[in-house]
Amino acid sequence: MNTRQRILVVGGVAGGASCAARARRLSEDAEIIVFERGPYVSFANCGLPYYIGDVIQKEDKLLVATAELFKTRFNIEVRNESEVVAINRERREIQVHNLRTGASYWEQYDALVLAPGAAPLRPPLPDIDLPGIFTLRTIPESRDIRQWIAEGGAQTAVVVGAGFIGLEMTENLVQRGLTVAVVEMMDQVLPPLDPELAEPVRQRLVDKGVSVHLNDAVAAFERDSSGKLVVTTRSGARIRTDLVVLGLGVRPEIKLAKQAGLAIGEKNGIRVDESMRTSDPHIWAVGDAVESRDFVTGEWCVVPLAGPANRQGRIAADSICGRSAHFRGVQSTAVCGVFGLTVAMTGASEKTLNRSGIAGYDKVYLHPNDHAAYYPGAKPIHLKLLFSCGDGRVLGAQAVGEEGVEKRIDVIAMAIQKGATIYDLEEAELCYAPQFGTAKDPVNFAGMIAANVLQGDVSLARWEQLPDTQALLLDVREPSEFTAGHVEGALNIPLPQLRARLGELPGGREIWVYCAAGQRSYYALRILRQHGYSCVRNLSGGFTSYKQFQPMLQKAQTAAGGRE
Ligand code: FAD
Repeated sequence: MNTRQRILVVGGVAGGASCAARARRLSEDAEIIVFERGPYVSFANCGLPYYIGDVIQKEDKLLVATAELFKTRFNIEVRNESEVVAINRERREIQVHNLRTGASYWEQYDALVLAPGAAPLRPPLPDIDLPGIFTLRTIPESRDIRQWIAEGGAQTAVVVGAGFIGLEMTENLVQRGLTVAVVEMMDQVLPPLDPELAEPVRQRLVDKGVSVHLNDAVAAFERDSSGKLVVTTRSGARIRTDLVVLGLGVRPEIKLAKQAGLAIGEKNGIRVDESMRTSDPHIWAVGDAVESRDFVTGEWCVVPLAGPANRQGRIAADSICGRSAHFRGVQSTAVCGVFGLTVAMTGASEKTLNRSGIAGYDKVYLHPNDHAAYYPGAKPIHLKLLFSCGDGRVLGAQAVGEEGVEKRIDVIAMAIQKGATIYDLEEAELCYAPQFGTAKDPVNFAGMIAANVLQGDVSLARWEQLPDTQALLLDVREPSEFTAGHVEGALNIPLPQLRARLGELPGGREIWVYCAAGQRSYYALRILRQHGYSCVRNLSGGFTSYKQFQPMLQKAQTAAGGRE
């Protein structure tokens, strides 16, 4: 009788492949078979936009591992072009459909791992199946887009959805010489970000010639008499184009799990416990198909990212092989490059905190340089830090800039996972030499500013509160900066003159101070407080944040009739 444990894995990319390889490292005896519907295993789906943009020029570079490598290195059998179509939980068997031959057969398992991923959304819009309208998940799909551009001589494209994949595609299509329009239903690009952090990205897209249609959604597709595709939006815009890429997000592939009667969660992902086990003790599930706990809010969520998928695959293998391993939850730590800008985030956004009803948080904005200003090439990082007002626990961070962005977010990601506070960020000892950072790193600065708030050294005002305030706005920048742009109605007293001109400030009125980024105004606030002005607030992030908030302020002011 065969006593070897039989581990069958459905899906052979991020989660499935890492699970299979880890299982082999833990058990030399187990029989491990990976079933993959597509022609390739373990390919770099994250690299596909760059293959379309010709940044990655050879398709085989996308193959992280091949079926042959799995056999020779890991003694794992990969059956590609093999779709698993059913699970019989009672007999512990799966039904496999060989897509090459059309044959079907059953395979028995001791442990089954579901890693089927998530499918791109393709809403039932009129004529969405016309040739030239693509989604992007697989190598063959990226090949089709490349071929469409090369053979059809495509010069224009519409990218539907301004999420991470949509914007990566936008950059790469522009890189290929196409003129691109982006259509996004939300009122900002990169919807997982808070809108003020997304604003520099929108601006960069516009600067690069991309036409960005926000607050608009695609209503229909058609082909006109000249053979061009036409994208009609809900606002009535009609955009003629040669190519459409849909980047509307993904939906967990739960068909198999559902048919087998496994528990499905409220977010429509496969429900698993911390060891990635499903409601059936012999079946595990990992990756984009599962629901995970949000590390900060504790809520169930589906977060389609490669890092969690890989870690979950490893944890499932540990669990199958009898080890104790627990997934800690997802922090949604993500990064995206858009025309030289790096956008990164970790933990909860302010939108998420509000949606989850988590009150008692505060936030600071800062715009420090990525490295010492005196060393050539320093670039600002626009950073937002969210923290708990009670104990100062770090809840989330987002940043945009050209250099050193992901490094800061990675540090904060680890801080969040360890339950660290803003005081820990203040004290973090991080790498420093002038070309890499500053002796007080942006992460330290974020902690210090937040600590000043919690310790009562400074009270902050928010740009979004501007339309509702009667406070005096005090701009403490130099006159040349004031002349170049300021908030309407602000009084300009440069910081060096402040002590001498205190008499110009009304005694009983609240004062909101701002400068370029919040530092000089903090100094001004400390001067004013110690001269008896008790009601003074620092406008967080200064004029730099003001510019990022401007679209939102304009919207609020149009709706209500306001200050500017
Ligand atoms: P997948 O990697 O999708 O693998 C699932 C596999 O299962 C698929 O190959 C599918 O064919 C197979 N399968 C499904 N059903 C069956 C079945 N019934 N039988 C057999 N096989 C089946 N994440 C990041 O963190 N950073 C990035 O920069 C990034 N960029 C991305 C860019 C693109 C274009 C795409 C598409 C995704 C990107 N992602 C990125 C997301 C990341 O790739 C996914 O989160 C990750 O691949 C999920 O791994 P997974 O194993 O759950 O699913």
